[in-house]
Amino acid sequence: MKKKIRFYNSINTKIVFVIVLLLVFALQLIGANFITQIERQLVANFQEDRQVQMNFLESTILPFLELESNGEDNEVDPIQEINSLLADFSGNGITELQVVNEDLVVIGTSDSTQQNIVGQLSDDMDVRQALLSESTVPRQVIDPVTSNRRWKVVEPVYSNQEDGQFLGAILMESNIETVYNQISQITWIFLQSSAVAIILSLVLANMVSRALTKPIKEMQIQTRQIADGDYSGTLKVYGEDELGQLASLINDLSDDVAEAQESIDAERRRLNSVLTHMTDGVVATDRRGKIIIINDMAQTMLNLSEEEATGENLLSVLDVEEDITLRTILEKQEDYLINATKKGVPIILRASFSLIQRESGFISGIVCVLHDVTEQERIDEERKQFVSNVSHELRTPLTSMRSYIEALADGAWEDPELAPRFLAVTQNETDRMIRMIQDLLHLSRIDSGKSNLDLEIVDMNEMVDHVLNRFEMVIHSAEYQGKNYQIKKDLLKDAIFVEVDPDRMIQVLDNIMNNAIKYSPDGGTITGRMKVDSDYVVISISDQGMGIPQADLHKIFSRFYRVDRARSRAMGGSGLGLAISKEVVEQHGGQIWAESTEGQGTTFYLSLPYVPFEEEDEWV
Ligand code: ADP
Repeated sequence: MKKKIRFYNSINTKIVFVIVLLLVFALQLIGANFITQIERQLVANFQEDRQVQMNFLESTILPFLELESNGEDNEVDPIQEINSLLADFSGNGITELQVVNEDLVVIGTSDSTQQNIVGQLSDDMDVRQALLSESTVPRQVIDPVTSNRRWKVVEPVYSNQEDGQFLGAILMESNIETVYNQISQITWIFLQSSAVAIILSLVLANMVSRALTKPIKEMQIQTRQIADGDYSGTLKVYGEDELGQLASLINDLSDDVAEAQESIDAERRRLNSVLTHMTDGVVATDRRGKIIIINDMAQTMLNLSEEEATGENLLSVLDVEEDITLRTILEKQEDYLINATKKGVPIILRASFSLIQRESGFISGIVCVLHDVTEQERIDEERKQFVSNVSHELRTPLTSMRSYIEALADGAWEDPELAPRFLAVTQNETDRMIRMIQDLLHLSRIDSGKSNLDLEIVDMNEMVDHVLNRFEMVIHSAEYQGKNYQIKKDLLKDAIFVEVDPDRMIQVLDNIMNNAIKYSPDGGTITGRMKVDSDYVVISISDQGMGIPQADLHKIFSRFYRVDRARSRAMGGSGLGLAISKEVVEQHGGQIWAESTEGQGTTFYLSLPYVPFEEEDEWV
């Protein structure tokens, strides 16, 4: 932000102002002193001059005054002599000379216009004053006509005789205004030179202060640039003085700030890229829980854009306002599970909270890390379900066995009819449990990746034909007498070679065929078909049995899942057959699925990848 310095605030103005003010004060002081001294000196000189003249005049006039006082007739007329003396004396700054005799009668005056007062009694107060005080009366008066200042001296004249008789007085008025004019002129010259000095000092002070403020101004511009993030400039260092040192310090500072800024930027970029590429969602808030940072993953998880999220309350964005308060988060940073949707699919998020704390302990915000735990939760749920299923599956046969064994122990072993039946049941249950445990072990081997396939190139057409033939025999055996089962084949004409583990694949086909018979209690046709497309061999086995409700179709491949639990158990099923089949088929890179209409029948499909043999391959 650029702030303009006002004229009266600038250092330049201040320096100039102070220097000029000092000069003005100094000149004022010197001037006042000097002019007063000069005035005093000039006035004193003037007065001394006049006194000398007065003394001279007095000594010249004294004999005539004595003559006049004696009143004797003389050859000379003292009054005339006095008047001629006065005429001689006047001029030269003296404006008026007057002589009074002992009776204070004016006997002579140099002023030709005042001749009429000659012979008259003097009305001058100063003359009387001089007579009374017997001393010189000096006084400055103002000329009423010209308003000029006059220096008036009245000198009493005493006889040289022993009696020292008062003979009269001489009044001298001289124009002191010339002295004052001189002083005014001196003052004027002084003022003029002062003005010149002030103007010169103004210019000089301005130059000096500009020289001082120039580097300061440059520093100001440079620091502003640093503040604006431009570190490219370098200050010129003019000298080794304080300003020079300050300039080089600012240069160093600029380098340091640039370096620090660079590392902060790099850090921020690193942090940003870490945040962006994190698979966890990260949301940071201020201390009031308002979102300030949200990374890409959190935006996807919470279904909102950065603009929508910024400034919003974290808890309301997570939709947990009713369950958690900011206070609970601050007090104990526990994890919470949150239901959300990611790209339309429901997901479970684990929100972990931690506090952003300063060294002082002041909490400046909250960081919330969102981790998608949907899969984990699902696995967890499945594991729990699995354990409960296994325990349940094992408990049922064990309970029934215990009751038969108890009955045998209670004496049934002696009953030749019951004993073999009871033993047959326990044997059945034991077989079932063994089968189940074998199935479980098989699944566990597949799960842990320890079940390796023994791959061979097999003619799939022949394998399916073989399995179907075997079941043809089974349905015509005594066990299925009276049940109307039929097996139809819709196979390929030519052999089709696929790379499979024959034992496992036969196990899968057996399982599907077994189910087809098991879940077609009223008999019906079981059709085995085979089709080939470019990359896949598709085997399908259809029955006309009870079918599977649509809702259960995708669940039948889960472990222990059975549509009708009681029927399956009665048939000796463990609920693991299709789960194993699915794993085996997927191990082969194939797929298994079912289509069904309840009450009408089910078709199981099995697709296996195959690479068609080239003609010449066979002979290589
Ligand atoms: P089970 O040992 O119970 O047969 P499976 O995993 O082989 O276990 O089959 C799972 C469930 O799928 C069965 O309990 C049954 O409900 C259903 N099922 C499988 N095959 C068929 C079929 N052909 N017709 C109707 N239901 C079937």
